Amino acid sequence: MNTLDATHDPSLTSWVESAQSDGTDFPIQNLPFGVFRRGRGDAEVGVAIGSDVLALTPLVGAGWLGQDAQVHHAVAQGTLNALLELSEAQTRDLRRRISALLSASNGALRDAASQRASCIVPQSDVEMLMPVTVGDYTDFYASVHHATNVGSMFRPDNPLLPNYKFIPVGYHGRASSLVVGGTPVRRPWGQQKADDADAPTFAPCRLFDYEVEVGFYVRGDNDLGSSVNIAEAEGRIFGLSLVNDWSARDLQKWEYQPLGPFLAKSFATSVAPWVVTLDALAPFRVSAFERPAGDPQPLPHLDHAVNRNTGAVDMQVEAWLLTPQMRAAKHEPVRLSRGHFRDMYWTIAQMLTHHASNGCNMRAGDLLASGTVSGPEKGNRGCLLELTWRGSEPVQLPTGEERRFLIDGDELILKGYCESKSHRRIGFGECRGVVVEALPA
Ligand code: CA
Repeated sequence: MNTLDATHDPSLTSWVESAQSDGTDFPIQNLPFGVFRRGRGDAEVGVAIGSDVLALTPLVGAGWLGQDAQVHHAVAQGTLNALLELSEAQTRDLRRRISALLSASNGALRDAASQRASCIVPQSDVEMLMPVTVGDYTDFYASVHHATNVGSMFRPDNPLLPNYKFIPVGYHGRASSLVVGGTPVRRPWGQQKADDADAPTFAPCRLFDYEVEVGFYVRGDNDLGSSVNIAEAEGRIFGLSLVNDWSARDLQKWEYQPLGPFLAKSFATSVAPWVVTLDALAPFRVSAFERPAGDPQPLPHLDHAVNRNTGAVDMQVEAWLLTPQMRAAKHEPVRLSRGHFRDMYWTIAQMLTHHASNGCNMRAGDLLASGTVSGPEKGNRGCLLELTWRGSEPVQLPTGEERRFLIDGDELILKGYCESKSHRRIGFGECRGVVVEALPA
């Protein structure tokens, strides 16, 4: 339900001054959730506001987050999992209370000096942790542009398989190797086989790539054997986050048939520290991807008027690169691509509904990711495989370097944001990761 309320009012300001700066990802209209710790302290649930974090636990005792014991319990945990077990109404009420507390027109917390000091902490002073302990992670393939580009490299005469326009294609990912943005990512070893070789070798990956994706966290549970109606699917989605699906293309090419990606993906997947709630995204909902004439319409269980009208999110996602040579020369990171999440062939509601349509139980804290966000233009391509067309068109960098794939020391930075003329711009923070060398033989 895309309800606009006082929390979205573009004229709303906060007494946290950094929340007013033009470039901030975290104005008071956003209020994304994350998990952090101070020094070696315990993990705490927090909300980003400007360049600070609002710690929620210290607010409970003072009654500033209402009287709901389930909410009090949820914000006092070291992950967001208990928050994802709350109802949509409970988390929406929590969001409204946090918005009111941080509003410039409300002096209660601002003027309570000791309490303010205990719960407003600069982001630069904290360490961000995994926001959610993910039970199951699934990765989709929802960009028809990405699927067509990659398909045409591997199957030039048959780029898009016949199921693509009927099924949100996906595969089961690996939850244990999800890491929070900022965690270094080690180059994997694996089997790879050159086209002209008789047999594969086992060696460090040479074609190391990223994939710009948008993930979403499941709220609540459905029983095994039950499904999720498309009309209710968004009520089962808590929020969205940037995801980098690191990919070993040489491993992938050798292993992907017949059962799909496996070790080429499961060595690490980075998730951004901040989760932007579906509530915060309400002003940026737009109609689902318009299928070209001649494409089939979704089957009835994946189709609904609300999904057609407001099922997509008008969000931009970008990949930026900082190489060791650029770092040494004090260059800023360069942008490699910018994609539009609204270009995806399938919506988040369709992905969730499809996932549960066989009776699969989706559980609070499951992570579903969209697949690489790519678009029709070269500048929209969300991975190096597409951007360099399998390495044949290297990316040129300001240092004179080129990249076909990532080398050790390269840092990949994902950014995301929503903006429109009539609402305050909100952002997703960053999802960073530095590639580190493979383990020795
Ligand atoms: Ca992927």
